[in-house]
Amino acid sequence: MQIHVSFDYELFFGRASGTAEKCILEPSQRLMDIATKHKVPFIFFVDAGYLHRLTHYAHVPAYKADYERIATQLRRLVAGGHEIALHIHPHWEDSVVEDGQWRVDTTRYKLADFREEEVLSIVSKYHQAIKDITGKPCLSYRAGGWCIQPFGPIKKALLQNGIHTDSTVYYHGYHASAAHAYDFRNAPDLAEWPFEDDPCVVQKTGSFREIPVTPDTIPPMFYWKLYLNMRSNPAVYRPVGDGSWLVDRKRIYKHFYTSTDHFACCDGFFASRLKPVLKRTEKEGKARMMILSHPKSMAPYSFCALDEFITFAKARGHSFHTITP
Ligand SMILES: [Zn+2]
Repeated sequence: MQIHVSFDYELFFGRASGTAEKCILEPSQRLMDIATKHKVPFIFFVDAGYLHRLTHYAHVPAYKADYERIATQLRRLVAGGHEIALHIHPHWEDSVVEDGQWRVDTTRYKLADFREEEVLSIVSKYHQAIKDITGKPCLSYRAGGWCIQPFGPIKKALLQNGIHTDSTVYYHGYHASAAHAYDFRNAPDLAEWPFEDDPCVVQKTGSFREIPVTPDTIPPMFYWKLYLNMRSNPAVYRPVGDGSWLVDRKRIYKHFYTSTDHFACCDGFFASRLKPVLKRTEKEGKARMMILSHPKSMAPYSFCALDEFITFAKARGHSFHTITP
C-alpha cells in the first residue's frame, strides 16, 4: 500500500488565530525531523490565502518576519523532498490585522460564497503566492474546510492552474453549518478515482483524479477517552497550536453518544487510530491510505504515535509517498 501523510499547514480560524511560531513553524519542524529520521516524504497543503494576506502586511515588521520564516521553511520542505500542495481558505479575502491580531472573518468561508470570476482570481493569486516562494507550481489541491462543492467554478480555476489531482473527499463525510457545507455521502469507497464535474462521481474520462482521505468510523468511547486525556494529561495530549478552532457545538456533542464519520488523522489523540485504520484498509485491499492532519493540532502524544506508526507500517511492507512526483 502507498501511504500518504498530509498536513494542512495553517493557522486557526476560530476566536484566536494563534501564532505562526506555535501553529505552523515549530510543529512542522518536528514533522520534518520525523520524516528525515525515517527517510519518508510528507505532503503539506499550504494555506496559500494566509501567505497572500501576509504580503499585504509586509510593512509591519512582525508579519514580514512571519512571511520570511514561513518562506524559508517551505523552501526547506521542498529541498527535503516533501510535496507542497495548494490549500485554499478564501476567508482571508475578508480578514485583517487589528491591534496586532488577525481578525478572521469567516462570513465567506468557502469558495462557493464568492462569484465565479472571483473564484478564478482567488485560486490563481493564491497559487502564485506559493510559486513566488518555492518557484514550483502545485500539482495537488485540497479545499479549505472540505468545502469543494459546487465544483464547477473551482474546476475551471484548477484547470487554468494546471492542477488535476484533488484530495478533499472522505467517504460518508457530511457537514452543514454556518461556515461549512459539504456532502460526500454518495462518494465511492475507493482508494482513487477519475472525475470531471463532481468529485464524488466516478467518470472514467475525467480530467481529474480524486485521492480521497481514508475514512474512519469513530465510536463515542473514543471521544470520552480524548476528553479525559485532555483533562488529566494536557501536557501530553493538548495540541501544540495556540489558537482556537472554528467549532460547531451541536456537532461536537453528537460525537459523545453516537458513532461518527471521520478520517485517518494524527491530530492529538486521533493518532491512536492510525494503526487500526491501517489494518482495516489493508483488509479492504485498498492501494492507498491518505492521512489528513494539521501541524497546529499535533500534540506531544501524536508526534510519538506518528513516529511509531511509520515504523509499524514499514514493517508490514507499506511505503510512504508524495501524491504527485
Ligand atoms: Zn484548512
